[in-house]
Amino acid sequence: MDKLKVLLAFLLLFSFAPSEFAEANPARKMRVDILISGGTLVTMNAHHDVIEDGAVAIEGDHIVMLGKRGTVSMNVIPKRVINAAGKVIIPGLINTHTHVPMSLFRGISDDLDLQDWLTKYIFPAEAKNVNEQFVRAGTRLGLAEMIRGGTTTYCDMYYFEDAIADESKKAGVRGVLGETIIDFPVADNKTNAEAMSYAERFITKWHNDPLIVPALAPHAPYTVSTDHLKAIRAMSDRLDAPVVIHVAETKKERDDIKKQYGDTPVTYLDKIGFLNYRTIAAHTVWITDKEIDILKSRGVGAAHNPQSNMKLASGVAPVPEMLAKDVAVGLGTDGAASNNDLDMWEEMDTAAKLHKEFSGDPKVVNAEQAFEMATIRGARALHLDQLIGSIEAGKRADFAIVDVDSLHQTPFFNIYSALVYSTKASDVRSVIIDGRLVMLDRRLLTLNENAIKIDANAYRDKIIKSLKN
Ligand SMILES: [Zn+2]
Repeated sequence: MDKLKVLLAFLLLFSFAPSEFAEANPARKMRVDILISGGTLVTMNAHHDVIEDGAVAIEGDHIVMLGKRGTVSMNVIPKRVINAAGKVIIPGLINTHTHVPMSLFRGISDDLDLQDWLTKYIFPAEAKNVNEQFVRAGTRLGLAEMIRGGTTTYCDMYYFEDAIADESKKAGVRGVLGETIIDFPVADNKTNAEAMSYAERFITKWHNDPLIVPALAPHAPYTVSTDHLKAIRAMSDRLDAPVVIHVAETKKERDDIKKQYGDTPVTYLDKIGFLNYRTIAAHTVWITDKEIDILKSRGVGAAHNPQSNMKLASGVAPVPEMLAKDVAVGLGTDGAASNNDLDMWEEMDTAAKLHKEFSGDPKVVNAEQAFEMATIRGARALHLDQLIGSIEAGKRADFAIVDVDSLHQTPFFNIYSALVYSTKASDVRSVIIDGRLVMLDRRLLTLNENAIKIDANAYRDKIIKSLKN
C-alpha cells in the first residue's frame, strides 16, 4: 500500500515536465501573495499543457509555482486564496492592435470603406474633439471594457499617448503604447519635429516601467515620408523602443505605395531598413509570400484584425500562410470605431471562421491556433514573450479566470473549442495583471464604471454637435 502511495505521489509530481512545476517539499513552504486554487489551467507553455484541478502561486508581480492543486497548496502559505474550482484559468488575453481612446467614436459611422470613413468622419471628428481630456475618458472606457473581457495587455497607437500610459498605469493594465507620428498637424503635435520630441520625452519617461512599454507609432507608409520613417527607426534603435505601424491594410495602400516607391509596402519598408525585431506591423493584409518571408526573417510582429478588416472590407490577411511560416502574428480588435468593440473572444472566433470560409478549408486556423494567437503568439508579436503570454514560473502574473458553466458553454467537451467558439467576454469572472487583482467576481477594482459611462455619453453629445458645425 505504501509503495502504491509513493508511486502515485511520484506520478503526480512528475506528470508535468519541465521542472518549473511544483514539487512537494513541506520542509520549505514558500510564503506567497496569492494562490489561485482549483480550476483548469490552460498554460500555453511550449507543450500547451492543460492541468486539471490546478493551482498557481503568485508572489509580487510574477508566478512562482504552478501545478496540481494538491501539490502546490502543500508547498505554499498564501496571504490570499482565490477559489477557481470549476473555472478555467488562462493567460491574460493580448490585444495586439488598438486605438483605445477611439472607444468614444464607437458607432459614429458604419458601413463605409476605409478612405470615406477616415476622411469624412474620423479625421474631422478627431480634429474637432480630441484633446487630452477626451483621450483620458476614452482610454478609461476602453480599459474597463478590456478588463471585463480578460484582456491584460494591449498595443495602442494614438495621440497624447502619455495620458494613455498614465490612465493604463492607474487602472493596472499592461500596454505597449505608441505615440502616433503622422505627416500632418494633429491634436497633440503640429509638426514632425514636435512629434519626435514628444515621443522622445514620452519614451524616456516610461522606459523602465513594469507595466508600460513606450513606443513610437508612425501611422503608415502612405502618411509618413521615407525620411521620417528612417528617423523613427533611428530613434527606436537609440532608445530601445518598439515601433508600431499600419502596413498593407488596403489594396489602395499597396497600389499607391507601389506607384510612389516602386515596391509593395513590406518590401519598401525593408529596403529602407525600417523592419526589425522591434517592429509591430498592424494588418499586413495585402502581402505576398515573399513579404511573409521578410516579416519572418526580420522578426517583425504582426497584428491580425479580422473584424476590423471585414467591417471596412479591407481584405483578408494571409494568416494560415503566416502561421505555416511561424510568423509572430497576434490578434487585435483595432479601434472600437471600426469593430465596434474591444472583445478578444469575438476576435478569436472570427479569426478561426474567416480563414476557413476564405480558404474553403475548415481545418485552417483551428481553435487552439486562434487561442494561441490571442495569448503566447500575441506576446511574440509584441516582443514580450519572455514576460507574458503563458502561465509559466517566472513570468508576470497576468491571468483571467473564466466561467465555463453558462448555457452557451454547456455541455463542455474540449477546452479550446469551448474557449474560442462558445465563451464570451461576459464569462470572464476575475482578472489579475502583474500580480494585482483588477477585477474580482465581475467587480472592477481599479475603474469606476458608472463615471466612465457618464463621461462617454457626455462626449457623444459633444461629438454630435461638433460634426454639425
Ligand atoms: Zn489601426
